[in-house]
Amino acid sequence: MSHFSHGRDFAVEPHPVDLTARPDLAAALDAVNRDLAATLPEAGPMRLMCTPSDDEDIPDQFHAALPDGRRHGGVTDPAAFGIAEAAQETVQAVLWQVWPVCLEHRTGVHADAGANDRAVWWCRAGEGHQLCEVGELAQTLPGRQRRALRRKEREREG
Ligand SMILES: [Zn+2]
Repeated sequence: MSHFSHGRDFAVEPHPVDLTARPDLAAALDAVNRDLAATLPEAGPMRLMCTPSDDEDIPDQFHAALPDGRRHGGVTDPAAFGIAEAAQETVQAVLWQVWPVCLEHRTGVHADAGANDRAVWWCRAGEGHQLCEVGELAQTLPGRQRRALRRKEREREG
């Protein structure tokens, strides 16, 4: 007897999400990857994966996978700040990194919905403040780091 016989989800492999059909998710993933490139380049670019549910009462699970395929956890709603949340889970559980960080308070920040439901990084220190929109993390870096990053980008573009 196999213990797999009781598991309903072992055979369901995650597959890459077709982003051509979901430009909103493509944009959200791009934003997260921009932030990774700026502050944690070894973790990106990430890919969006989906584990479909075979039960209509259980939603599909979306995961953010590292370039080598490793991933952890997932979200049921990848829209808005869902992908950012999924990326954080993977970074935390697989790479053991707190990401991203508010440099002012030296603490990890959280994906959340900001004004107009845009995805933002929210710092809970003190009274709480919005660090930036997801995708704009480079703007929060000190000038020297930001300039080095721009230099690297220019080199990549050739
Ligand atoms: Zn802060």
